[in-house]
Amino acid sequence: MSKVDPKLAKDIAKYGAVDFSACYNCGNCTAVCSLTEENASFPRMMIRYSMLGMKEEILSSKELWMCYHCGDCSATCPRQADPGELMAGLRRYAIANYEPSGITKLIFKSNPFSILLTLVLATILGFFLLTMKPDFTVSRWIFSWMPYAVIHLMGLIVFSFTGLTALLGIFSMSRRLNRKHSTDSNKTKKSVFQSIGEVLTEIGTMGRYQKCSTDEGEYWSTKPNLVRPWFVHWSIMWGFIGLLFATILDFLFKDPATTIWLPSRILGTVSGLFLIYGTSLAMYYRMTKPTKTYEATKLADWMFLFFLWIAGLTGFWMEVAVSFNLSETLSQVIFMIHTIISMELVILFAFSKFAHAAYRPIALYFLARNRE
Ligand code: SF4
Ligand code: SF4
Repeated sequence: MSKVDPKLAKDIAKYGAVDFSACYNCGNCTAVCSLTEENASFPRMMIRYSMLGMKEEILSSKELWMCYHCGDCSATCPRQADPGELMAGLRRYAIANYEPSGITKLIFKSNPFSILLTLVLATILGFFLLTMKPDFTVSRWIFSWMPYAVIHLMGLIVFSFTGLTALLGIFSMSRRLNRKHSTDSNKTKKSVFQSIGEVLTEIGTMGRYQKCSTDEGEYWSTKPNLVRPWFVHWSIMWGFIGLLFATILDFLFKDPATTIWLPSRILGTVSGLFLIYGTSLAMYYRMTKPTKTYEATKLADWMFLFFLWIAGLTGFWMEVAVSFNLSETLSQVIFMIHTIISMELVILFAFSKFAHAAYRPIALYFLARNRE
């Protein structure tokens, strides 16, 4: 059994999970959760780990990533211990602990640090982008007091550091889950390829999330699929992936500004629409709080959504600007904003909620390995 951390409950509270000490272990939450199963039982087990200070058990739990924060468990908890919010807080806690530099801990715990880091990074990235346009008047002025090579080097250091940190975070999580899986190895029932196939199916369809987002207080079951949380999440995820591919295609085929009918442009337009649709609805739900799930949104979550939204909107502006020959200066400013925001999203991947995009599929893989 792993070491006990007596300060764990206090530490977890800083990541947004504050009510779970009211739990009296009735098990109602696990009974109502439509995603809990034989090989992955939650959230009651995670509450026990949290109360007993079992940090390593939490960090090596695939169960954390099985939850989509639908809120069914919180709505039915007789002690208002808010197990759904505990699961969300534990995921933030895990992201912060997998990442080795300590920056994620500061981002999740300190709003001023989070804002400051974003602004500093935006400034460095702005300078870095100007090094790619050395003939601009602004670029020449900046290079007159800070050499081109220094700015370029700073940009490369930032990218290398964040890339390495992301890899170390993924390695740390996989190692823990794999160790736990090995101790259960007699339960391995599926091959690697079958398991990967199951993960890809889940990413493509959000089948588990669809099962989950039916019913906090029967609110969502009366709504069409297009506005349910699973579809909002699906739109954001596929919108972002599509835009990433469109950008890579644009970069490879080097003819991005001429027509909106290039395949990469069509992919970018459709993906951008999904991204804007999903992020707009997700922010709307956080503002209007239709269910309890949306009551405790952290600044880091807001910033993540807002950045995605801005990236989608500015991307569209560039499409419109190219099609209708709009002001070149304005388009260049918006292009800068779009690129800085997109780069920040990529750079802050390991240090933000965005990291769940890597951690959840890994956890799903270990779940699939143990399933019939
Ligand atoms: S969190 Fe609530 S529902 Fe779950 S075991 Fe504790 S008291 Fe029961
Ligand atoms: S929030 Fe939903 S998915 Fe998560 S543990 Fe509770 S009932 Fe299950």
